[in-house]
Amino acid sequence: MPELPEVETTRRGLAPHLEGRRVRGVTLRRPDLRWPIPPEVAAELPGQRIESVRRRAKYLLLDTQAGSALLHLGMSGSLRVLPADTPPRLHDHVDIALSRDAGQPDRVLRFTDPRRFGCLLWQPAGELHPLLRGLGPEPLGDGFDGDYLHARSRGRKVALKAFLMDQKVVVGVGNIYVAEALFAAGVSPMRAAGRVSRERYAAIAAEIRAVLARAIARGGTTLRDFLAPDGAPGYFEQELSAYGRGGEPCLRCGRALRHAMVGQRATVWCGHCQR
Ligand code: ZN
Repeated sequence: MPELPEVETTRRGLAPHLEGRRVRGVTLRRPDLRWPIPPEVAAELPGQRIESVRRRAKYLLLDTQAGSALLHLGMSGSLRVLPADTPPRLHDHVDIALSRDAGQPDRVLRFTDPRRFGCLLWQPAGELHPLLRGLGPEPLGDGFDGDYLHARSRGRKVALKAFLMDQKVVVGVGNIYVAEALFAAGVSPMRAAGRVSRERYAAIAAEIRAVLARAIARGGTTLRDFLAPDGAPGYFEQELSAYGRGGEPCLRCGRALRHAMVGQRATVWCGHCQR
């Protein structure tokens, strides 16, 4: 499943091909993905200039003066910029045709999603789509640090891991990244969120930023795929210290890593190194 780093990698890969282009047309091969595609996408988007490609949480926004196309990759979605005459395949649900420079071939932004858990929605100019309301800060942006987490967590009895995965607290810190960040910070995911000190939250915030930044940097090596007709964005491998390693030796102390379910998500930590 695409996590925040994959979505940010996608954004960085797409932006140079989309920003400044005009939308020549929209082809919808299905009326729905996870939700129906609203009529504004086909009615409002053609003729608009794409001013920026933004990410908020795991959503991508193609901003125009009329409004923004709001995309989510769901479980299996991908976006590629392709020559316009590339024949669509079974799960290629949407094409957004782009203006071109003289002498360049026509190109389309193609949205492919075999499982159709992704979405393409519309956010009118000056409004905030309901899906984006109430979201916590970006983990890589201003406003996310140890002081914020400390203040936000006072009185909370929920497990630290569940607290950090709450999109109202901070967006886009998935199961992999919270496991790796808490291992690096030496804090147990089972500890009550309200009983973690300001200093430890500072370490946790720094490790969350570091693990996400590393993943994004690795994703950068796949950017060339965005123009390859057969190249879906590569989901990079990471060397993982905790996630998926339950029962295996801790890379720091050698003791077996513990595992349990927290909020129906597999959770792995070292009972010795993480307190
Ligand atoms: Zn250990």
